[in-house]
Amino acid sequence: KKRIAVMTSGGDAPGMSGAVRAVVRQTIASGCDAFAVYEGYEGLVQGGDMIKQMYWEDVRGWLSEGGTLIGTARCMAFKERPGRLQAAKNMIAKGIDALVICGGDGSLTGADKFRGEWPSLVQELVEKKMCTAEEVEPFKHLNVVGLVGSIDNDMSSTDATIGCYSSLQRICQAVDFIDATAFSHQRAFVIEVMGRHCGWLALMAGVSCGADFVFLPENPPSTDWEKDMCDIVKKHRTLGKRKTIVIVAEGAHDRDLNPIKPSKVKDLLSNEVGLDTRVTTLGHVQRGGTACAYDRMLATLQGVEAVKAVLEATPETPSPVICIVENKIVRKSLLDAVALTHKVADAIESKDFGTAMKLRDAEFTE
Ligand code: ADP
Repeated sequence: KKRIAVMTSGGDAPGMSGAVRAVVRQTIASGCDAFAVYEGYEGLVQGGDMIKQMYWEDVRGWLSEGGTLIGTARCMAFKERPGRLQAAKNMIAKGIDALVICGGDGSLTGADKFRGEWPSLVQELVEKKMCTAEEVEPFKHLNVVGLVGSIDNDMSSTDATIGCYSSLQRICQAVDFIDATAFSHQRAFVIEVMGRHCGWLALMAGVSCGADFVFLPENPPSTDWEKDMCDIVKKHRTLGKRKTIVIVAEGAHDRDLNPIKPSKVKDLLSNEVGLDTRVTTLGHVQRGGTACAYDRMLATLQGVEAVKAVLEATPETPSPVICIVENKIVRKSLLDAVALTHKVADAIESKDFGTAMKLRDAEFTE
């Protein structure tokens, strides 16, 4: 009888609680014991009450909730081997032999590292007399499965991450509110949206809200972008638009990687185009609220698949990450997905925007 733990880690996202619910219930339905690790890797390193057995009714009502009801944290201790050694001891103490982690690329990298190190961690526990040889005997292999939870949709190999469509929906609602007042006063608004190195939220918000101009990290504007943007906004005004919406991704920069700040865009629209311009930073509103239908569906189908992957895994199976590709729930290599994700960030950092765009495109066409 397997004992499967689920954890949320890194930045919170709507749908994470739904994923926990699905993993807990599918685990129980499969005749196994379910556990939740509270506060991300922090709970794994602390152990004790931070790792709780979960029952069917413990996750009642969690499907629609925003954020994560088992908490999340950034944990420095887990990045070091002594922290991971303590985590291994705590898992063995609870009899847990499989871990499902819902988080971003950092969390999933940590998970794969943990699994890779597991045999040597177990050996060290015995050597240091933190566990006896008999205690570690049933725990020769750790089973790890990743679920991608992030509002940014910044993970390669999957079309959507759990939380990204809820966040996009929230951004659209906010822009709709701004639209009404912008239209009334004929104002321009510069709206900063989240996404870190990824422009997905900004691009999709731009499309969904009919923005005049969008700034993305992967595809920075031309070197003469100040003039280009002002010309486009002026043209739209000439054509009769009463409002102007410019969306700036938080990671936006020019072709020399200098950040493009909403305040600079505002000054251009005010001084060069002569528009009454305001800046709105949407901030953490983008993470809040209930999970949209798509994220509930994704969290549930992927949570179920994660438990199936645990039950079918052999010691030789590479750690999988559960993805969605062309509307199908699929398993992919966790390490490959993380490596491909880092490639996009590396391409941006080395100003190879063509490759960054191609890699992002591949995610949609793969
Ligand atoms: P995200 O999962 O959203 O990308 P982070 O990058 O902050 O967020 O990672 C969340 C947590 O995962 C970190 O606080 C740390 O505990 C763990 N982690 C991240 N990278 C590693 C790593 N290379 N090795 C071990 N643990 C890591």
